[in-house]
Amino acid sequence: NESKGKLPRYPGLERWRLIEKMGDGAFSNVYKAVDLEGSAGEVAIKVVRKFEMNSSQGDDHLHPDFKKPKAAERANILKEVQIMRQLDHPSIVKLIDFSESKQYYYIILELAPGGELFHQIVRLTYFSENLSRHVITQVAEALEYLHEEKGVVHRDIKPENLLFSPIPFIPTKNPKPRSDEEEDKVDEGEFTAGVGSGGIGKIKIADFGLSKIVWDTQTMTPCGTVGYTAPEIVKDERYSKSVDMWAMGCVLYTLLCGFPPFYDESIQVLTEKVAKGQYTFLSPWWDDISKPAQDLVSHLLTVDPEKRYTIKEFLAHPWIKNTAEPTYAAF
Ligand code: ADP
Ligand code: MG
Repeated sequence: NESKGKLPRYPGLERWRLIEKMGDGAFSNVYKAVDLEGSAGEVAIKVVRKFEMNSSQGDDHLHPDFKKPKAAERANILKEVQIMRQLDHPSIVKLIDFSESKQYYYIILELAPGGELFHQIVRLTYFSENLSRHVITQVAEALEYLHEEKGVVHRDIKPENLLFSPIPFIPTKNPKPRSDEEEDKVDEGEFTAGVGSGGIGKIKIADFGLSKIVWDTQTMTPCGTVGYTAPEIVKDERYSKSVDMWAMGCVLYTLLCGFPPFYDESIQVLTEKVAKGQYTFLSPWWDDISKPAQDLVSHLLTVDPEKRYTIKEFLAHPWIKNTAEPTYAAF
């Protein structure tokens, strides 16, 4: 690995040997690392810089060691960690440890070695209905746990934050099996036989950086002192889970056809399209996708959050339960 020599050393991370970079963002780098001391094995380490490069705080001239972290940034990271600490679900990346140095926060996470769902969609162009169901059902089960048991909304569900574990083997030659026989083979894992142990992979939800707790799970009321909460806040909380459902609709749409439901080069036009819920099942790409699949997507991409499917309704849908008759869209 030629990038090996370029990996930085972080103070306070001596216990871990960084192996490779798995992802990077504006303020975070995620590395694959191995435990040199204990038995944690391979992990992912999300390193978050405490300071922005172009800090306008007036301490620009100071060595980073003497700068103070912004209170808001610290609160955000602590919130991400605090929420993750409470979670224990097979389809959610587990928090292993959290520590910090003067310049960085370190979030030690369960490793999802298969990378982003995003990359698999790019690689395959689009997923068969069975493969899409396999993926989205796992996301939905994790969301059911978050919404119903933990009162947590993720608020950043997208293919970049949905990771595979282990590395999936999905056939590239025939991205969308057309015959029933081929569909069955995918179901039975025949396509995966003898090629690693990945199968078509388990999905793990990552990135709780924008997540939020909205309901007190005991009383099923909004957190805080309800009696003094303004109606618009109560309403907001009431609808906040539905943002994850909308996002899941976008992910499912993208899985099935290979492009997102809303797109425009102009942010302004795109925003307008989303606000109005202007999307179509574009021909010819959607022609062979079943009516039940389209029905499910349309119940998620519903502008009125009160009419949009909840997680319970999603999981009860015939396409998810696979009891639907295979009917197809008309040309
Ligand atoms: P950000 O808040 O910068 O988006 P993320 O938590 O989404 O940070 O991590 C950025 C990227 O790093 C992800 O999109 C993914 O590619 C990779 N990544 C994050 N967590 C893991 C993990 N546990 N295992 C493997 N890769 C990960
Ligand atoms: Mg992310």
